[in-house]
Formats: sequence, C-alpha cells, structure tokens
Amino acid sequence: MEKRNAIITGGSRGIGLAIIKNLLADNYEVWYLSRSEIEEDLGSMVHHIACDVGDKEALESSLKIAVKEAGTVNVLVNNAGITRDGLIMRMSNENFEDVININLTSTFITCRTLSRTFLKQKFGSIINISSVVGVVGNGGQANYAASKAGIIGLSKSLAKEFASRGVRVNCIAPGFIETSMTDKLTESQKEMIVEQIPLKKMGKPEMVADCVKFLASDASSYITGQVICVDGGMVM
Ligand code: NDP
Repeated sequence: MEKRNAIITGGSRGIGLAIIKNLLADNYEVWYLSRSEIEEDLGSMVHHIACDVGDKEALESSLKIAVKEAGTVNVLVNNAGITRDGLIMRMSNENFEDVININLTSTFITCRTLSRTFLKQKFGSIINISSVVGVVGNGGQANYAASKAGIIGLSKSLAKEFASRGVRVNCIAPGFIETSMTDKLTESQKEMIVEQIPLKKMGKPEMVADCVKFLASDASSYITGQVICVDGGMVM
C-alpha cells in the first residue's frame, strides 16, 4: 500500500494508541498531539508533538508544524478526550468548560486549521471520536454528553461543507471500551454496564481502531456524515 499521512489528537495511550498502531500497519506516517509520549518505541514513522489541546494557540501552532512536516494529510483523527463526571446540580463551570474545551473546541479548531489543506488537496478523511453518550445522553455526564453530541453536529455540518471537494467527515461513537478512562469505574459499575450491552462484554481499543482503519480507507469512499457506534449493540 502506498505511504499515507495521518494526524491524531491524543494517541499517547488507550484508543488513540491502538489507532496509531493500526495506521502504522497500513503504511501511514503518523503525527500525534498529546501532553505525554507513547511509552513504547514505535519507530521512526511516528512523531510526537507535545501539546495540550485545551490551549487553542498551542493546538493551532502544533497542527501547523504537523501539516508542514507531513505535506499532505490523508487522515485526521480527533481522539483526545476527558471526562469530569458529576450530577448537574454540583457540576462547576470549570468542569463543564474543561470538557467542552478539550473534547469539542479542540475538534473544531483542528478541523478549521486543517480545512484549507483538505479543501486544497481535494481528498481526505476526518474521523471524530464521539461517544454513545453523545447519541443517547447519560446521567452524571451532562458536560461529556454535550461535548460528544456537539462533535456529531460539527461533523455532520463539515461533511456537508466538504463533500463537494471529496473530503469525508465521519464520527465513531464507542460504547464502553477498556482504557484508563473506564478504569475509573468500580467492578460493580462495570458489571451493571456489561449487563446492558447486548454482546455482553466491554470493547477493546483495537475494535475502535479497526473502525478508524475502515473510515480512513477507500473501502468507505461512499460514506460521509455518519455516526458509527462501536458499542456491542448498546445503541440501535
Ligand atoms: P484515555 O484517557 O485512555 O486517553 C485519552 C487520550 O487523550 C490520551 O492520549 C491523552 O493524552 C489525550 N488527552 C487528554 N487530554 C488532553 C489534552 N488536554 N491535550 C492533549 N491530549 C489530551 O481515553 P480513551 O483512549 O478511552 O479515549 C479516547 C477517546 O475515546 C476520547 O475522546 C473518549 O472520550 C472517547 N471514548 C472513550 C470511551 C471509552 O469507553 N474508553 C467511550 C466513548 C468514547 P495525554 O494525557 O498524554 O495528553
């Protein structure tokens, strides 16, 4: 397969790391923006750009560095994300704004910064990591659900803006995937969640990465503006 380039936010661990490994196996060179670096050595085709995506200026300048180095960008994955759970009655402005800023605003800034590159190239696949919670909501996660629903609205709008230039924009909505994000759940919470999943198990990061691989590839060339749930059947 010919060499391609990808930029991803997050990527130092969890789902993002699995995405990077999958892209590498498909002959992608990858630039990832996160605060910490991947612990293992993945070779010379992976480049870390230290960046807090919540810092708008730093995000824009880091993206510009990545685009300059890459030249062309085949795939952009907006994956960086955080949770700050709590019932709305006790949710601080800071916990609401931090989640919106890191999950949603960073996705907006990344798409805007790379829009010129994509529209000029007339090809590319943008894959935004939302969540099933952005589709159906979740008590105790008003901030997170709002950010992830916002990513869906943003992605569908961009899919319409970019389609005539051959640039596709899709969302993946993972269900419960085993990463440091879901490690915070207690064993009894996990048991209750698994009970509600038709396939009766939590997902693995590689399962989300396989969906990214599909949406990045020409196998999905007629798919844009969609939300694909990778959730063991939770949302149907
Ligand atoms: P992890 O907590 O394991 O990883 C989060 C990633 O986001 C890390 O690479 C982290 O890098 C990066 N990140 C977080 N904050 C920032 C920041 N301020 N600046 C730069 N990078 C940041 O989470 P997951 O792998 O589970 O989650 C990945 C995505 O998948 C998120 O968007 C999440 O909302 C979504 N998702 C996850 C689900 C799950 O069940 N796990 C379910 C549904 C959606 P670093 O800390 O090095 O900066």
